[in-house]
Amino acid sequence: MELNSLYIDELKEIVKKYGEKEFRAKQLFNFFHAQKRLDIKNSNLPKKLIDNLLENEEIRKLSILKDYSSKIDETKKLLYQLDDGNIIEGSLIKYKFGYSLCISTQVGCRMSCVFCASTKEGRVRNLTASEMLSQIYSVENEYGINLSNVVLMGSGEPLDNYENLIRFLDLIHDENGRNFSYRNLTISTCGIVENIYKLADKKYPVTLALSLHASNNEDRKAIMPITNKYSIEEALKACKYYCDQTNTRLTIEYTLINCENDKDQNVKELKNLLNNLKVHINLIPLNNIKEYSGKRPDKRSVYAFKKKLESKGLNVTIRRELGADINASCGQLRRDYKGG
Ligand code: SAH
Repeated sequence: MELNSLYIDELKEIVKKYGEKEFRAKQLFNFFHAQKRLDIKNSNLPKKLIDNLLENEEIRKLSILKDYSSKIDETKKLLYQLDDGNIIEGSLIKYKFGYSLCISTQVGCRMSCVFCASTKEGRVRNLTASEMLSQIYSVENEYGINLSNVVLMGSGEPLDNYENLIRFLDLIHDENGRNFSYRNLTISTCGIVENIYKLADKKYPVTLALSLHASNNEDRKAIMPITNKYSIEEALKACKYYCDQTNTRLTIEYTLINCENDKDQNVKELKNLLNNLKVHINLIPLNNIKEYSGKRPDKRSVYAFKKKLESKGLNVTIRRELGADINASCGQLRRDYKGG
C-alpha cells in the first residue's frame, strides 16, 4: 500500500498487521503530513515496524527537479520528478498576502483543449493523493515557507481523477496533518458535470473555477471537446448547485484569444449566461503555444474587454502575468525540458 496516501484509520490496519499498537498509525500520519517527512528510517517508530514498512509497503516520493526563478517578480516555475520518472510542472507565486502554489493532478490530460500544452500527449496517468500533497510539502520544505493558497490549475483535469482528489482534500485538511483550510483551495475544471455534483454534496468549502473560454456552445466545442458531452448551460447549473451547497462563490476562467472570443457579441452572450450567478470572472490572456494558431491579444484589447464586461455589471479581474521572463507558458516547460 502507498502509505503516504492513506487515512489514519487505514494506517491503523497496516500497523496492526505488523503487530503494533494503533497509536503508531497516528505517529506515522504525523510524520508524513505534519512534519512533512518521508524518511521513516529516521523516525522514532520501532525498528521492527520500520523494517516491515520499508520492505512490504510503498512510500511515494517526489523531488524538485529544477526551479526557474523570475528576475522580474518572485515567481518560480518548478519541475518535479516522480518515482516512475514522469515529470510534472507547477508554479509558486508570491502575492502581498503570501504564497500561492499551482499544482498538477495528472501527468498529461485527456481533455484535449486545443490551446493547452498539457494535453498534447494525452493522459499518461493520474497522480495519487500523496503525489499531489508532496508538491505542496516539498515546496514548503525547500523554501522554508507556509503556503497561503493552493490552486489545482497545473496539468490534468482534477475532476477526471476524482477518487484521488477527494483523498487529497481530506488529507490536506486533516487536523492531525497539514490542517490546510478548504477556503484557501481552488479547483479548476473544464466542467465534468457529474463530478461537480458529487463534489458539491461533500460540502467542502473549496472554491470552484470553471474554465469557460467561450460564450456559446458552438464556439466552445471548437476549442474544448468536453462541450460535446456537457453544454455550457449544464455546466453552469452544476456550478450553481456546487456554490449553493458549499456556500462559495464561483470563479469563471476566460482565456482571451485575439479576435476569437473577445468580441462585443461575446460580451453580450457572457452577460446572458452569467446574469443570475454570483461569479467572478478571471481573464487570462492566452499564452501562445506552438501547437495552436490562436494568439494572445494585446494589453489594450484585454483592458477594453474587461471594461465592456464591467459595464454590464460583471465582476472581472485580469490574471497578472507572472514570471514573464521565464520562457514558458503552462505545460510548455515540461515539454521543452523533455525535448517535446
Ligand atoms: N483541467 C483544468 C485545469 C487546467 S489549467 C481546467 O480545465 O480548468 C488551468 C487554466 O489554464 C484552465 O482554465 C485552462 O483552460 C487554462 N489554460 C490552459 N492552457 C492555456 C494557455 N495556453 N493560455 C491560457 N490559459 C490556458
